Amino acid sequence: MRYNKVNEKIISSLVQIVGKENVILDEKTLENYAHDETPLYTSMPDVAVKPGSTEEVCEIMKLANANMVPVTPRGGGTSLSAGAVPILGGIVLLLERMNKIKEIDKKNMMVIVEPGIITEQLGNELAKHGLFFPPDPVSLDSCMIGGNIAECAGGPRAMKYGVTKNYVLGIEVVLPDSTIQRYGGKLLKNVTGYDIINLIIGSEGTLAIVTEAILKVLPVPTVIIDLLVPFKCVEDSVNFGIDVMQTGLMPAAIEFMEGEVYRLVAKYLGRNLPFAEAGAQIIVELDGNNRELLRKHYDEIGNIALKHGALDVFVGESAKDRERIWEPRKNASDALKDQSKPLAREDLVVPKDKIPELITRLKQCVKQYNAHLYAFGHLGDGNIHADIGVDDTVSLQHGAFIQKMRREIYAITLSLGGAITAEHGIGLSKIEYLEMALDKKQLEIMRSIKKIFDPNNILNPGKIFPQEK
Ligand SMILES: Cc1cc2nc3c(=O)[nH]c(=O)nc-3n(C[C@H](O)[C@H](O)[C@H](O)COP(=O)(O)OP(=O)(O)OC[C@H]3O[C@@H](n4cnc5c(N)ncnc54)[C@H](O)[C@@H]3O)c2cc1C
Repeated sequence: MRYNKVNEKIISSLVQIVGKENVILDEKTLENYAHDETPLYTSMPDVAVKPGSTEEVCEIMKLANANMVPVTPRGGGTSLSAGAVPILGGIVLLLERMNKIKEIDKKNMMVIVEPGIITEQLGNELAKHGLFFPPDPVSLDSCMIGGNIAECAGGPRAMKYGVTKNYVLGIEVVLPDSTIQRYGGKLLKNVTGYDIINLIIGSEGTLAIVTEAILKVLPVPTVIIDLLVPFKCVEDSVNFGIDVMQTGLMPAAIEFMEGEVYRLVAKYLGRNLPFAEAGAQIIVELDGNNRELLRKHYDEIGNIALKHGALDVFVGESAKDRERIWEPRKNASDALKDQSKPLAREDLVVPKDKIPELITRLKQCVKQYNAHLYAFGHLGDGNIHADIGVDDTVSLQHGAFIQKMRREIYAITLSLGGAITAEHGIGLSKIEYLEMALDKKQLEIMRSIKKIFDPNNILNPGKIFPQEK
């Protein structure tokens, strides 16, 4: 596929569409859009534009199609699969100005939003009305609803409440050919034809640009209690988690951090954390509306923890104590980025009982490459984030070992009945491994779908599938 560079004529058309102040050309600012949160991937765009409406997005896509210029949609830029990196240059479409809550419909328990609203801001606004939107990626202070829809983001609460797709009832999108389409509506059930909404959700900005969404919301739980439980080893912690899930108490989250990650976070935060010598730490979150009942539940969970050899059980009921419990988990990603020279940030998922085996085998695997694997993540979903770091003595110049190591990691995960990505997507960083996870026919069907939506391959090209020569 031949693409064109953005030239002066295209720039002046972009200025006409969105206004001069919303067309970014200076190199220093553009560098912010050359990467996301994925290590090792960068590529400069020719221009970044900030549309303020669906109509403006539509005009930009008309222009891009007519000139064969690639377009990469971008929300908060927190992708961990290099999905927002404009690998072929062209236009980066910044959705941040389209950040309104258009309607809070309390009667139907729904909200209509633009894609650029930040997840946490949506949560704060909804809380004022006694409502909440459960999907809670740990990046919620920066990621946007459009990005979450494009990635079908999950988060700690996914084990009880599900992921983004469980809350999207309707969408307005601009297709690559610039057509504006609406799917679904304020409907909790709808099986009219193929489920296009759920095809677009998780399509990583390759099929359509989300310009509006109708989201289901729930009443906000009035009581939240968190437990922090240190264990001697990973296996005990996982067995505890599995037992808790079988009790029927239905925690909102069960999060996991191996001891090494916890210790790196302590170093990063510059202070001592309790039970820093433990082999693993688990956070259990309980939510509901009856404090006494939740206290009974945490007593029960505490007993299960002690049965599995927990070193202690810390309980946080006040906002301050709860924040203290979550602080290490919320800083895990930044601490690893800061301290471990990361090569890859994996997002593996296996049946929960296979987690100890997965971690042991992965650690053995990366050791052969003088690399180190740090595991943490959403135990409640069997979703382990495995950051792989190297020390300064390892040269990244000859990166072939990275591919070989990642192939082995994915082979181990697949052999345990797992998948190579649970919530971060294929993006750019996992393209070459996709054929390990899907067969030829499955790939052929997916490629055909992309062609139907985007015959000129101008919307986020070079993502999910290798670029055709
Ligand atoms: C510290 C940290 C913690 C994280 N924790 C989690 C977690 O708990 N759970 C989880 O699922 N993920 C997590 N992530 C990954 C990331 O935050 C999510 O994938 C998030 O949903 C991306 O949203 P964003 O707005 O930043 O999107 P971007 O990074 O800007 O874009 C992501 C993809 O979506 C596309 N896109 C963006 N907006 C649109 C739109 N309006 N229409 C069409 N396509 C669009 C882009 O082209 C790109 O392919 C984490 C990341 C970090 C850095």
